[in-house]
Amino acid sequence: MQLTQFTDLGLRVVMRLAVAGDGERPGSRAIAEELSVSYTHAAKVITRLGELGIVDARRGRAGGLAITELGRTASVGWLARRLEGNAEVVDCDGAQPCPLRSGCLLRSALRRAQNAFFESLDALTIEDLTRSPTGTVLLALPRVTAATTSQISRTIGE
Ligand code: SF4
Repeated sequence: MQLTQFTDLGLRVVMRLAVAGDGERPGSRAIAEELSVSYTHAAKVITRLGELGIVDARRGRAGGLAITELGRTASVGWLARRLEGNAEVVDCDGAQPCPLRSGCLLRSALRRAQNAFFESLDALTIEDLTRSPTGTVLLALPRVTAATTSQISRTIGE
């Protein structure tokens, strides 16, 4: 079982926001920089996290991102399911549908394995994932300030 990059990035963003200090509200560009991912990918996943009520995103001078109470307490399995969507492990009905799909025991076995995978993450919360040593690593990430992101935007001509 492999998570999509979208889901992994979503979990990374939430873990980073879970260790933010009091009043610290990093922007999407800063988060993308700190986590070494493209701003476009980060922005998409942050939008989805906002829709799910995991992240509070505000615009303006006092804006930025913060994890919500739901984000701290939601199970990792719950969040991973929502970020992944309903896709099965194998695409049996794709452009070239598999001729076995009307009665395939492998498909049902893979569905059970997929459910077991998510269930194994249900016992964990984001707060659990930010304990040491991960929390220490997250806190040691070089912080990117608004001034730095402005400089980066000017450099790349945005
Ligand atoms: S063999 Fe079964 S699981 Fe694999 S693609 Fe065909 S229907 Fe799906």
